[in-house]
Amino acid sequence: MRMKDLTIKELSDLIIIQAKEKGFGVSLEEIDVAEKFALIHGEVAEAFEAYRHKKNEGKDGLSMEMGDIVQRVLHLSAILGIDIQKAILEKMDINKDRDWDWKKINEKHA
Ligand SMILES: [Mg+2]
Repeated sequence: MRMKDLTIKELSDLIIIQAKEKGFGVSLEEIDVAEKFALIHGEVAEAFEAYRHKKNEGKDGLSMEMGDIVQRVLHLSAILGIDIQKAILEKMDINKDRDWDWKKINEKHA
C-alpha cells in the first residue's frame, strides 16, 4: 500500500495504531475528551501562527500544523466511534443545497 493512496478510514486506522504505540489513548476510558478538543484548538492556533509568520515548511510549518489538526480530529473521531469520511460526505451533501446570508455574517467570502 502506497501511503499516498490511503483513504480517510485507512489513515484513521494508522493514527489509532500510532496512538496506541505512543500512549495517546485509544478508548474513552483512556482519554479526556474535553482535553482532546482543547488540543485540536491548540493545533488550529499553531497552524494560524505558522500562516501568520509565512512559515510553510518544516516541523512547525503550516503544512505539518494542518496535518496535526487532521490527525487529532481523526484520532478523537475514531475514539468517539464517528465514521468521519461518511460524516464529511453527509455534511457536504447538506451544504450543497444550503445558502448563507453573507450580509448577516462577519466573514470574508467570494
Ligand atoms: Mg502542532
